[in-house]
Amino acid sequence: MLAGGDQGGQFTKVLHHSELRAIEIEWKPIHSERRRPLIFCLRDVSALLSYEQLRVEVDRIERRRQQTENLNRALELERLALATKVMECPVTGLPNRRGLHVSIRAALKTQRENGGRISILFCDLNAFKEINDLHGHQIGDDLLIEIGRRLQRSLRFGDILSRLGGDEFVVLTMGIFDEGDALQLAMRLNDAVSQTWSVEDHTIRPSMSIGITISDDPDISVDELIRRADLAMYEAKTNSDQHISFYHSSIDKKVRKNIHLRHQLEGALQHKSMFLAYQPIVELDDRMVVGMEALLRLGAIAAPIATPSEFIPLAERTALILPIGRWVITQALEQLCQLRSQGSDVTMAINVSPLQLKETGLSDFFLSQAERSGVDPSWTVIEVTESILIEHPDLATSELRRLREAGVKVHLDDFGTGYSSMSWLARLPIDTIKVDRSFISDFLHDHRKAVVLEAMIRLSRDLGLGLIAEGIETVEQHAGLLAMGCVRGQGYLFGRPEPLTHSCAVPA
Ligand SMILES: [Mg+2]
Repeated sequence: MLAGGDQGGQFTKVLHHSELRAIEIEWKPIHSERRRPLIFCLRDVSALLSYEQLRVEVDRIERRRQQTENLNRALELERLALATKVMECPVTGLPNRRGLHVSIRAALKTQRENGGRISILFCDLNAFKEINDLHGHQIGDDLLIEIGRRLQRSLRFGDILSRLGGDEFVVLTMGIFDEGDALQLAMRLNDAVSQTWSVEDHTIRPSMSIGITISDDPDISVDELIRRADLAMYEAKTNSDQHISFYHSSIDKKVRKNIHLRHQLEGALQHKSMFLAYQPIVELDDRMVVGMEALLRLGAIAAPIATPSEFIPLAERTALILPIGRWVITQALEQLCQLRSQGSDVTMAINVSPLQLKETGLSDFFLSQAERSGVDPSWTVIEVTESILIEHPDLATSELRRLREAGVKVHLDDFGTGYSSMSWLARLPIDTIKVDRSFISDFLHDHRKAVVLEAMIRLSRDLGLGLIAEGIETVEQHAGLLAMGCVRGQGYLFGRPEPLTHSCAVPA
């Protein structure tokens, strides 16, 4: 600006072209004791401006204004494109979690101004991971696109569908007034999704679990609404025939309890604060103990912290059953070794969960642990439930076959509670069936159960399979089973599950 330097100079600045205001600034050195001082003079020269000067100045300002405007417009377009991109799922083109948050915030604002209810339907595909594993991620992605289309087609005007990621879709709607409406919509979504879908040579029948929350509270947070629908979805996955559940406050309690139990389970695994209790399996005629079943207990011996029916399903769902199951195998085999070294000739039955059987390598682990503990595999028994043998026959049977080849016996646990197809029995790689306690507790009063039980005893004998009656609690049941020709049994009448030192005291 001070182009003239300390020799002095001058220029004119138009301050405001529409009002024709301009000033002239002049500066020159003054003579003084101090070093090179400058003096500035400001004069109003508006009246002296030429038309030409003004036109040049106006053009310059207009050009600058247009440049700035263009730049702003480009920046705004870029910002919008970016916002759309970050709010959109790249696979399905549906709004993503961020987009859903924006929509829910808008719905809450509308609710605050006009009232009404907001409903969130949290949809999660069942067994999507298995579809991905089996058919690959490309087919998994194609299926997600198809599911997105099917859901979109089933919605009404104004309903908003988004994909949160993974196999989770969320429907936001303000057009639902009660649970009946919501249930109808959820059933329509489930119907649409569960139509078969063919791709390449595969036919897939997808299915979905839906958790629903309906809220008339405009002050609820977006995260809380999504959390409630998510919790209800978990409930739908585990406890509902229809695979549809509504959020209610008891779910919160249950989830908190499960989280607490999960921490306990992880803690128990980390600090080895678990123990095995052993329940005898006896010959029914003389009550001689022929085997022990190792049963996992959580906590200290004096103070177990949860029942197996509480923590086993949770351990299955969280896959904690895998490390826990390995601990059980190692522990039970070491204790079997001790029992044998004390002169006992009992066998040791170890329960194996479906998840353990689904993971290849169970037989390798089991046999290596047996060798390490100095246990002959023929002294051991694996107990499995039939669901795993029916749902994953190839994997389960190959693992079981390896174990049986090494001498391990296989017991089919809880027989009579699942599919219990008699024709299956001949084909399964098993040695013995364990008849579920529900038959034993009822057969004395329920004629039909008695008939089925008798048929099971006869059939197992004809097929060359062993049979163990579970849950024998009374002398009447014991006598009845003996009369039917049942040979082996287990139950409180002969011994409760107890730690090793007590189990040894069971009369042989
Ligand atoms: Mg068992």
